[in-house]
Amino acid sequence: MTSQTRTLTQEDTAPVAVATPGARILQNYIGGSWVSAKAPGLVDVTNPSNGEVLARAPLSGKSDIEAAVAAASAAWPEWRSRSIGERAEFIYALREKFRLRIDELAASVTKEGGKVLSDARAEVSRAIEVIEVACASPMTMQGRILEGVARGINSETIRQSVGVCAAITPFNFPAMVPMWFLPFAIVCGNTFILKPSEQVPLTSELMCHILEEIGLPPGVVNLVHGAHDAVNGILDSPGIRAVSFVGSVSTAKYIYRRAAENGKRVQALGGAKNYMIVMPDAVVDKTVANVLGSAFGNAGQRCMAGSVLVTVGSAKEKIMDRLKAEAEKVIAGDGRDPKASLGPVISSAACDRIHDAIETGVKEGAEVLVDGRRPRGTPSGGNFIGPTILNNVKPGMHAATDEIFGPVLSVMHVETLDEAIALVNSDHRGNGTSIFTENGAAVREYSRRVEVGMVGVNIGVAASPAYFPFSGWKDSAFGDLNVHGWDAVEFFTRKKTVTSRYFSAGETGKYFVEQGDKK
Ligand code: NAD
Repeated sequence: MTSQTRTLTQEDTAPVAVATPGARILQNYIGGSWVSAKAPGLVDVTNPSNGEVLARAPLSGKSDIEAAVAAASAAWPEWRSRSIGERAEFIYALREKFRLRIDELAASVTKEGGKVLSDARAEVSRAIEVIEVACASPMTMQGRILEGVARGINSETIRQSVGVCAAITPFNFPAMVPMWFLPFAIVCGNTFILKPSEQVPLTSELMCHILEEIGLPPGVVNLVHGAHDAVNGILDSPGIRAVSFVGSVSTAKYIYRRAAENGKRVQALGGAKNYMIVMPDAVVDKTVANVLGSAFGNAGQRCMAGSVLVTVGSAKEKIMDRLKAEAEKVIAGDGRDPKASLGPVISSAACDRIHDAIETGVKEGAEVLVDGRRPRGTPSGGNFIGPTILNNVKPGMHAATDEIFGPVLSVMHVETLDEAIALVNSDHRGNGTSIFTENGAAVREYSRRVEVGMVGVNIGVAASPAYFPFSGWKDSAFGDLNVHGWDAVEFFTRKKTVTSRYFSAGETGKYFVEQGDKK
């Protein structure tokens, strides 16, 4: 999926329903029961390292979503009436289970998504961090009160749940991205429907088993597998009040528009092209290590992947040889192989698309400094591309504009920081960026002027920690509220202001009106 910003149609990107007979068919989790989808379509879930079919995911439809909405709506009144402490107990328990089962969760992420186990463990650790932040909701959900807005009158703003909330998530973080929403949604008193990517549904299934184990009441969290039809069912359902989305720019735009048209609260995070700026005084070895980690971590399939390196002035001479030498040491392989630091990309279609992007780069005049098109020693049947560096990329080239979403680093060279800032700001997206320098003035100038939501300094393109808000600018995010941090409670609650006074004390001098006083 590339990040074009056109309007989607159903036919555009609908998954081709290839289903291998014999593989296990996944079930939806609705109202506390595992149930077969009503819609007939199925799609294969494959291990990207070897092509093994792991399961078949149902392509659920509108009626499956409506069944989940009915269960979530039925569960809401009782769930929201529980105390915040009671709801938070479930989040503590969820955190503990994730901690104890981190290896199992990471193995699931690697199996269906391909990323190397160290990346998968880091992903689950980040999911745990988000869950921990949700544990603080008895503090963060508090409202405000002002005494004496007029004589004897107070006003207070309280936060209440929104209702049934849904999240639609991408393939590249099967454990973390659902946790950006689920724990906050439910601790705030909402009930929840998760529609994970049809390419990686198994980790979501495992997470729902964990929710069952902690005894979460039926209907509070529901899981519906599927793709376009399930998504449209969510966007059009009158019973769903809020939608969170993470995925490519084109889908984010579509989701934002259709959900908003239907009167829903919506946050839709899109794709990215993230720039890493290297100044002449950057510390070379540390910079190269961080740049390569950002470019090739999770095989470049991160919305925070560092996909463009921009050298400023003499940084070019200082860094390029080292960059090439270190990139050539990156080993591609099965995510379970401890020697591998670069796993496969998600599908053979993604592999073909990335090969095309490299070919286009060459045709447009880029130099292939490191060529990963034929990685050696990778398992057969897997979707492997080795680390690739395209040098001398110029503005307007495909390698400068497309979110390649693979292990391909585009390198551009400019003479001044102003030119670098202009390059970054010319992009229609603005998720993350990094600058490498020891010069505080350059850092200040860069951080102040770039139109990007998250800025790293001498650190690979840096996702905000869970206790800070995470989001990009421009086409990287639609909607006013970021994910996690203090924005999460904003998104998952509605504010209500109560203005009150009591007559009894002032008028009778007594604090209780007694029966005999009533005439
Ligand atoms: P995607 O947009 O193809 O799919 C995301 C979700 O939307 C999936 O659940 C999918 O089933 C659904 N979907 C896809 N096309 C649809 C359509 N036409 N109609 C209705 N539903 C549709 O994204 P992906 O390929 O799974 O994930 C990769 C993308 O996500 C990249 O662009 C990446 O940058 C982005 N991403 C962004 C962030 C962020 O925080 N900004 C985080 C992770 C991933």
